[in-house]
Parts: sequence; structure tokens; C-alpha cells
Amino acid sequence: MRKRNHIVKNVISLIFITVAIFIAIKVYNKYNYNDFEKNISELEKTEFTRDAEEKYSKMDSYKLENIDYTDSMFSQTISVLPNRPYKVTCKVKVKDVQNLNGSRSGGAHICISGTTEKSPAITGTSDWQDLTFYFNSKNRTEVNLGFRLGGYEEKTKGTAWFSDFEVKVGTPNSSNKWKMVCFIFPNIDVKVQVNNKIENVKLQMSENDIQTVKTNLSRFKNSISEICNNKMSIEYEVYTISEPIKTLSYDEENGYYVSAEDVYDYINSYIEKTNYDHIYVAFRMADKQKGNSTLVNDWIGLGGMDYYGIGFSNIRMPDDENNYAYEFNYLFNTFPEEVFIHEFLHTLERNSSEYGYEVPALHDYKDYGYFENNKEGLRRWYADYMNCNIIYQKDKIGLPSQIYTCKPVNESNFTYSSKVDVLSEPKNIIEVIRSIGRRVQKLFTYISEKSTDNQN
Ligand SMILES: [Zn+2]
Repeated sequence: MRKRNHIVKNVISLIFITVAIFIAIKVYNKYNYNDFEKNISELEKTEFTRDAEEKYSKMDSYKLENIDYTDSMFSQTISVLPNRPYKVTCKVKVKDVQNLNGSRSGGAHICISGTTEKSPAITGTSDWQDLTFYFNSKNRTEVNLGFRLGGYEEKTKGTAWFSDFEVKVGTPNSSNKWKMVCFIFPNIDVKVQVNNKIENVKLQMSENDIQTVKTNLSRFKNSISEICNNKMSIEYEVYTISEPIKTLSYDEENGYYVSAEDVYDYINSYIEKTNYDHIYVAFRMADKQKGNSTLVNDWIGLGGMDYYGIGFSNIRMPDDENNYAYEFNYLFNTFPEEVFIHEFLHTLERNSSEYGYEVPALHDYKDYGYFENNKEGLRRWYADYMNCNIIYQKDKIGLPSQIYTCKPVNESNFTYSSKVDVLSEPKNIIEVIRSIGRRVQKLFTYISEKSTDNQN
């Protein structure tokens, strides 16, 4: 009897241990994010789990569920070679993804944590699709790659599933030819807030306005080569999009303007087809004669922005028919294409600082003894700026000549590319153990750093 009792006890404990191990594995699998770190801005609003039901391939997907508007992300720091084009891809599926206040820039996307570099974001409800994020490593040796539901400045709710991560490094393109595009939007039909009231504003550009933009683009093509002594050249295409721009973006400093998200649906198919290096959007924003003084801004161009990594500028038709900013005239305006050059230089100014070069601010011309000329604006300043010919404390400063080959990353950089061995998931038990080992080691480093911090 005693012996039988013993066997029964052994069997029970064996079953108990098996069940416990089974539950432990289940729980581990559900919450295991491998080498990714979970980043949450508000702890109680996001659930990070692995999903064995909704998955794209064999591996369980990574599920982010924002039960309220918030910003959540899982990320991994990867090593990169400086000045190289990178392409990050994954599969993504979304359900009921919405941004707070109808913002168009948040959603499910790939990004570099702590920066505004990101892929387009997906909202709404849709089945598995490809998500691609291009970036240049610039002067960095590591980046923190994030898979995000929300945004740098946005809050989002809903569910997103991510799967099948891949990173590729491409070949830099050393050409100094820039392929540009200008999208002319003759119509805007937007709702804007004026004195706490929502107002509908509809404006058109005339045939004459459209022709003016085209004439200045062709002048711009010649002048830019001339001004920079052929350090770079441009090719360009123009498209007139008749659908009205329906939303505008807003910030305190500049007022209403057109952002990448405001025109994404209209222009993205063109951008995907042809790999452009710079994008202009031209539109009319106010017409004093028609009484729409609410959208009058003090700028006629706005630059230094980006369209998912591509330099992006606004060209605004003035609000007054008697404004001659864009009209060529021997007596008072021989440089009507100035705004195209000025806004593009803001992109080169921004790129220079992101690549780690120190350059004077484009607006600081007065500090270096330059003045706006009645007939040709800041042409002399732009020439010295682009040729690194500004005299400052016995030195010559300006844009570095390398900046003319630092163009946005696009698909053409990946004709010859190689896969980078990062973000991959453990495929067998040895890789699983290694992955756990790495995390335990990380945890110990973290704890010992914390305790040293406390002692100090
Ligand atoms: Zn400016």
C-alpha cells in the first residue's frame, strides 16, 4: 500500500510540474518581446502581448493595444554604419486605429525613437500590409528603431499587430543631380479656426498664377546651378492637382501651412513611382480682394520640413494681386525664383546640421554683413552660402560641398543591398536561451547601475 501511495504522489507531482511548466511557457510566450524594449508613455493605457491567433507568418505577432488615446512603442537599439541608406520593413495589421483630435500624422508606423524620422502611419481597420521606412544613418553609429502606435506628438487608440521585421543596408548615391517635383494645387477648400469659430475657406489660383509658378521653376533650374557654381544641378517635374487641399496644419510660429499629411493622399502615388529628392507644394492661401484675410501669413514660402525623409517646401501665392514677389521686372525684381532657392536652402541647412556639420543659419545674413537688395533679394548671400565663401574670423564658412550628394534615401539605393542581422527572432531553443541570457545580463547591468546611482 505504501509503495502505491508513493507512486500516486509522484504521478500527481509530475502532472502538477508539467501543468506549471506549460502555464509558465504560455505566459512567457504571451508577454515575451524577445530583444525589444517596451516603451509606454502611460502604463495603464497600453497592453503589450504576443498574438498566436492574428499572425502573418509562423511567429506570433507583436500586438499593441491602446485602450485609450496614448503613444506606445516597442523598440530595439541597432548598430549602424554612418552615412548609409537603410530600409526597415515589416507587416502590419490595424483595427479601429484613430488619432486624437483627428490628427493625420499618428497611427501604426516605424520610426527612430526620439526623432521625427518615421514611415507613413496607418489608421483605420485593414488587413496585413507592408510598411516601409527609409532613413539615412547620417553621422550616427546606432539608432533606436521603434514600432509604434501613436506618434512623436500624437496620441492614438486602437490595436496594431506587427510581424516579419527586416533591415537592409543599401548603397549611397554620390550624384549631385537632384530630382525635384512641384505639385501645384490651384484649389483649397478648408475649415479653419478664426476667433474660436470654424470657418470654411475656398480659394483658387488663376491660370496666370499657375503659369507664374511654372516660369519661376524654369528660372530656378538655371539659377541654382549658376549660384552654386555647378556644385549641384536639378531636374524637375510639375503636376497640377485639381482636387482641393482639404486640411491645413497649424503651428504657433507660422500659422496655417500645408504638411506632408495634408497632401499625402494626392501625391504619394507620384512619389512612389519616381524617386524624388525634393518636393514643393504650391497653393494660394489667402486673397485679400475676396476678403479672406484670415489665412494671410507673412511668409511666401516655408521650408526645412520633410515628407517622410524627403525635403518638403511650401510655395504660397501671395494674397494680393498687386504683390510682385513672383513677377520678373528689370526695374524691381530680377530674381522672382528666389523663394524656390531660399526654401531648398533651408533643407540643405537642416541636412548639414543633421549630418554633423556646423553651418551659419540661413536667416542670419545680416550678422555676416549681407543685405537684401531691392532687385535681387539675397542672391549674393545664397551664392556665398552655397560656395562656402562667407568670410568669418579669417575663415570661410557656408555649406560643406559634401552636402550636395546627401540626398534622401529611396528604393533606388537598394538595387544592391544586404540584409542586416538585427531584429530577427530566435528560431530554435539555443537562440531562445541566448536571447533570455542577453536580457538577464541587461537586467543585471540595469540593477547594478541603479544601485550605484543610489549610493552616489
Ligand atoms: Zn526662411
